[in-house]
Amino acid sequence: MDQAALVEYIAREVMAQLNPVPGGSVPEEGPRPGAQIVPVAVSVRHIHLAQPEINVLFGPGYALHKQRDLYQPGEFAAEEVVTLVGPRLRSLSNVRVLGPVRKRTQVEISRTDAITLGLKVPVRPSGQLQESATLTLVGPRGSITLPECCIVANRHIHISTVQARAWGVRDDQRVSVRVQSERPAVLGDVQIRVADTFKLVMHIDTDDANAVGLTCGSTVEITNGE
Ligand SMILES: [Zn+2]
Repeated sequence: MDQAALVEYIAREVMAQLNPVPGGSVPEEGPRPGAQIVPVAVSVRHIHLAQPEINVLFGPGYALHKQRDLYQPGEFAAEEVVTLVGPRLRSLSNVRVLGPVRKRTQVEISRTDAITLGLKVPVRPSGQLQESATLTLVGPRGSITLPECCIVANRHIHISTVQARAWGVRDDQRVSVRVQSERPAVLGDVQIRVADTFKLVMHIDTDDANAVGLTCGSTVEITNGE
C-alpha cells in the first residue's frame, strides 16, 4: 500500500467512525416515536380510613398526621399505622394509613399478604367492596372487625383528561402494557382511570412488580391490544 492509499484508507476509517452509515451500528435503546410510555409506582399494602374507624382505632375525633405527600395531588402517607388480623389470628403489622380520610375504609393488600393472613381476597378496582374480604383492624386505642373492607387492588393507570384524549383512551377502559425488564411480560386487564388532576402513573402491587421485575421509576408501554 503506497502512502496515498494508506492516507485514503485511514481517512475512510475515520469518516466511518464519525458518520456511521444507517444500519451499520447498534441502534440506541429507547421507545419508538409515539409510544405511550407510563411510569410505574409499586403500591405496598396500605389502608384508607373513614372517620368512624379512625375514632375506634385512634380515639374519638382523631386527625391523621401527614408524613409525606404522595405523587397524586392531595394524597399523603400518614404517620399512623394499623395491624391487620385475619382468621386464625395471623396478622400483618405496621400497615401504612394513606390520607386523606375517605367515605369508606378500604384495605389494599397483595395476594401474598392474603395468603399470610389466611384470607380469600378478590382482585377489584378501588371502591368496589361488595363481597370483598372481612378483616380485623387494630390500632393503638381499639380494634374493629370490618366486613367487606379488603381487596387486592387491580392494575390501573392514572391519567389526566388531556393526556387520555391525546392517547385515545377513556375512563374505565382496559388495556395491556408491555414490560421490558429482566423478566419481560405483557400485563393485561389494566384499568384506565381518568381525572383532570391525575398525574400519569401505573399502580401495581408488590406481587406484580416482583413477578415481572418492575420497581418504582420503571416504565411500561401501553400496547392497547396490539
Ligand atoms: Zn392508584
